This record gives sequence, structure tokens and C-alpha cells, in this order.
Amino acid sequence: MKVKNKILKILILITLFVALFSGGLYFLYGDKLAIIGNNLNLVVDFSTHDLFKEKHREINVLKYKIDIELFPNDKKIIAETKVIGVIKKNIKKQIVLDFYDNFNINSVLVNDKAAKYKFDDNQIFIENNNTKSDSFEVSIAYEGTPENLGFGSFAFTEWNNNIMISTLNEPIFASTWFPCNDTPSDKALLGISITVDSNFISVSNGKLISVESKGEKKKYNWSTVYPIATYLIAIYSAPYKSFSQKYISSLGDTMDVDYYVLQDKFEDAEVAFSDHPTYLRVLSDLYGEYPFIREKYGVAQITWNLGAMESQTITGIGTNFINKAKFFSSMMLHETSHSWWGNSVTPKSWKDIWLNEGFATYSEALYWEKIKGESALASTMASFGVNNNIETLYAPEINIFSKMIYNKGAWVLHMLRKELGDTLFFKTLRNYYQKFKYGNADTYDFKKVCEETSGKDFTKFFDQWVFTGKGIIEIDYKWKVKNSGTDKKKLYISLSQTQSGYDCYNFPLDILIKSINGNEFISTNYIISRDTTLSLNIPDEFSYLELDPGNWLLASVNLIGDN
Ligand SMILES: [Zn+2]
Repeated sequence: MKVKNKILKILILITLFVALFSGGLYFLYGDKLAIIGNNLNLVVDFSTHDLFKEKHREINVLKYKIDIELFPNDKKIIAETKVIGVIKKNIKKQIVLDFYDNFNINSVLVNDKAAKYKFDDNQIFIENNNTKSDSFEVSIAYEGTPENLGFGSFAFTEWNNNIMISTLNEPIFASTWFPCNDTPSDKALLGISITVDSNFISVSNGKLISVESKGEKKKYNWSTVYPIATYLIAIYSAPYKSFSQKYISSLGDTMDVDYYVLQDKFEDAEVAFSDHPTYLRVLSDLYGEYPFIREKYGVAQITWNLGAMESQTITGIGTNFINKAKFFSSMMLHETSHSWWGNSVTPKSWKDIWLNEGFATYSEALYWEKIKGESALASTMASFGVNNNIETLYAPEINIFSKMIYNKGAWVLHMLRKELGDTLFFKTLRNYYQKFKYGNADTYDFKKVCEETSGKDFTKFFDQWVFTGKGIIEIDYKWKVKNSGTDKKKLYISLSQTQSGYDCYNFPLDILIKSINGNEFISTNYIISRDTTLSLNIPDEFSYLELDPGNWLLASVNLIGDN
């Protein structure tokens, strides 16, 4: 029928949009998505930045105080950043911070005294004038035009003649606009003041403490009470209009959910953003209460065509994704879920990026399961294709933001759920969140929580899916029915693992068997060999079988022969 066909077409379109745009940092390059064409020049070859290198960990930053004035017409900033911290190991004569060297430096102070410094390889080496104390306060005043690296680390852009300023630091580009220990493991508190023309609203992490009028300008003072990683610190400044919703926690606390968009997107945003309190409710029920309940959740419009970025308590979302049709609900849910996975439980290093993106992607599936039921879980998982078999999930060598990291990461959690059962699986996620919230975790920490919660050994599971295995399971299978000498029949199924990315996966395999009399049952078999023959008793004459009918396995199955 016509109507149905039309609905089907719309559904296909929606599915396509959801599949294309289901990502968190959430964006569209990589894999086969060449559709963004010219925007590819924004993408940095991260491998050259040696993302996995452990850098100057002898310091622990406790707080950043950033005071920044924006000059949109000149595309310049004048800023002063204070870095307050402690030296962790030996008292060092030098304090080293990440900071790009393209600014005019007005002053460098250590504990309020002028200090000598030099730049090398986008790091600033500052002479420490007080080696007796293990604490320090470095203050750097600087001005100029920040380099706009990565996905847009500091961007002056325009939308319909409105100037917009936005930052996007992930993974290591916070240091393009302020001096910092630019690594996810060193979380700190943050106070940030943004001064700009008074028709702009300036938004950042945490809570708005005050707005000061300064002649033609306004200064917005934001502050966090929760630790924040440098890649999640953000500025969004534009002639925004704002509106709000309320989220009520399980304990009855009320929190603001604040939105900042340009006037011409206001009506679209009112519809597109309206489900955020529901996202927060569902995710809190799944994992534990929203981590930043004393501050806010917020969303700000940015001119980034590639997706959205989960800056702590204030997600930046590209203008193109704000529309009344709610095509991008999965994206917004994904970003909200990073509040738990990434922002509160932060990876120790970029080797563990799947703990951000895999968890956020699986949150999409869990959300749709909650809202629409079990079939939505299976169909959402089916949309998470994995066709990269050259990199491991842990410490990927080429691209930490490939679609594989997002989708395979989600599949790992889905398969873990199959191994553990729902009760233990969700208990594991909650335990993991409780243990590491507001801190850092790595893949080994997560594996340990899986094992502690379940009492099972997950060494093989993590080896095949996370640390060593590449790609997915590939199975060739054939089946045969034989009389077994009694009235019963026996069904023989021969399976061969044919993949090259890992020798032998161990996994539970569901097999759906149907008889000609309409009987059906699921036989679950734990596969532990590359080649396996199963013999299954079937109650009456066999008519149909299906491997993994519930879509619980990241595998492709290929029938090579029957009877
Ligand atoms: Zn993400």
C-alpha cells in the first residue's frame, strides 16, 4: 500500500540518519562517510601527536582559573590563566605545561614572581622559583589568535551573520588556548571568566556564578565543583537566546537543563531538545544519578557540521542537527550519556577511548530498548556495523575516533550482557560507575569490576574483544539431520571460525530450531574451538534453524551446506 510504502521510506530515511549520525564526540568522518567532503581538512592525523605518550606526570593540577576576553571581529583573545597544582614526585626546577607557542606572552609568574620560560614542541618550560614547596601557582598572561586545530579547538565562525565562538579540545587541543596539563588523567577544578560584547551570552562548564557589566561588555563567571579533564573544558559564546527545562532527580532535587541557540533556531530547538529530561531520567535509572546534579546539564548551538561534543555539563551541538523532526535524538542521548562515561568516569589515557565511545553508543541501544522495547534493542545493535579489522579496540593504532571504536565498543558491552545476564550486567555497570565517578579508569579497571561483580574470569573475553582481537567473528556452518535409531531426530551443526583477526573466539551461541509441527526452542552452546560440531536432539521433524536469532553476537554467519 502507498501509505505504508511512504512510512517505510520515512523509516528507512530515519534509520539511515540515525545510523549515519550515531556517534560523540559524534561526527561523520572516517569509515565510508565521504559525504562531508571538504570538511575533511578539519581532521587531524592524530597518530602524529603521539596520543598515547605519558607526559610530564610529575605535576597534578588542582585548579585552572581562566580569565579570557574575546574579540570576535579581530578573531583574537586576551587571556590570563592561573594553573594551581602540586609537584607529585621530586621537587623539580621546572614546571612543564602544554601550551601552543603562537601567542604574545605578556607575563609568566610563578608564585607571583616573574619567572624565566622557554617554549619547545608546544610545551612551556617554566623555571620554578620555589623548589622547597611541592605546591605551585603559575600565572600566564597572553594574547593573540589561537590556533584552530583538531575538530575546531578554538573557532570563530559565522551563522546567518551571527558571529559564534566555540571550542572543541578533544583529544589534546585545550593547550591551543590555555596552558594546561593536557591529558585526561589530570582532572582539576575550574573557574572560567569570559568577557565579550554585551549582546553575546557566554557559556561554559559548571554553574554560572555571576554576570558583570563592563561598559559595552559583559563578563560571565562560571565555576565547577566537580573535577574536569582539559578536553572537556569549553567556551561557547554567541548572541544566543536561552530557554530551560527542569530535571528532577530520584531524590527529588531539581536541576536546570539549559539551552543556548540563535534566534533562528529557537523554535526548532524547543522541539529538538525537549527530551533531555527523559534522557537524564533513563540514564540515571540505568547507571546511577546524573553526576553533575549540583550544576546543570546544558546544550549550546555551535557551527560544527560534523556532530556534537560532550563538554562537561554543556554539550556543543552542530547547527545542522537541530530540527523539529528529532532526527538526532540518538546523538543527543549519546552526548548526555557521556556525562557518566567520559566526563565523570574519565579514561586514564586515549588508549581507553572505547570506554567513552563504546559506552555512549551502547547507551543509545539501552535508551531505545527502554523507550520502545526489546525489538528496538536488537534493531539498534544491528545498525552498529563493524568493518574495521585492522585495529584493536584498546589502543587503536590509526584512529581513536573510527566508527569501529563506537560500534564495536557497544557490541562488547552487549556481549558482556549476554555472558552475565541482565541482573549482573547492570550491577557491573553501576559498580563501575560508583567506584570511578569523578575520577579516571582504564580498561583493566573495568575488567576487574566485571570479575569482582560476577566472580568470573574475563581474561579471554577481554583478550579476544578488546586487547588482541581485530574485527569480528566469521562463521561458516552447515547442518545435517540423521535418524538416531529412536523416534527422535538428531541435528548436527558444524561450525568453523574463518576470521583472520583472532584465532579462536569463545562465546555463547544461541541456535533457534523450529520443527514442521511448529515447535521451536533455543539451544545455547558455548563455543570454545575454531571448529565445532554440535549434535542436538530435536523433538520432531526439523524445518528451520537460525544462528544468533536475538542478535547477541558480533559475528557474520554464512551457511555453506545443508542436508
Ligand atoms: Zn561520543
